[in-house]
Amino acid sequence: MYPQGSNNIQFNVSGLGCWLFAIGAAWLLGAIGLGWLVKSIVVLLGLVLIAPVIAFVGFRWWLSRNLIEGPCPVCDTPLTGLKGAKTLCPNCQTPLQVQGYGFERFTPEGTVEVSAVDVTSNGMSDDDTIDVRVEVLPPAQDKG
Ligand SMILES: [Zn+2]
Repeated sequence: MYPQGSNNIQFNVSGLGCWLFAIGAAWLLGAIGLGWLVKSIVVLLGLVLIAPVIAFVGFRWWLSRNLIEGPCPVCDTPLTGLKGAKTLCPNCQTPLQVQGYGFERFTPEGTVEVSAVDVTSNGMSDDDTIDVRVEVLPPAQDKG
């Protein structure tokens, strides 16, 4: 038998004791049929700790997949937008559709895009007319 009261071996049990207490408490609760309580608390605690991490990582991942950066097709202003979203260029007010590869002019259904080819004004006379010749552009292709 070791002599009682001999206390020359000391462990730093501040952390270990805490765990031992937790394990002991868990065992005790399990022994009296409250293991489900321990498990649910552990699961709940794990969820509380992990959920923000998962949410953050998931959000980052989602952003990296859906955040599109590219220039405005009209005025080359650098833009950032979410994939599939419709946005308005802050510089030239052009409605834009964010595609997987960049920004594209958003044209509502039925819009015919034209390009001004020749604009001539007949000057300052009273019957001032402006002759605009336009070229009909092919409808925008949906590249996905
Ligand atoms: Zn623009």
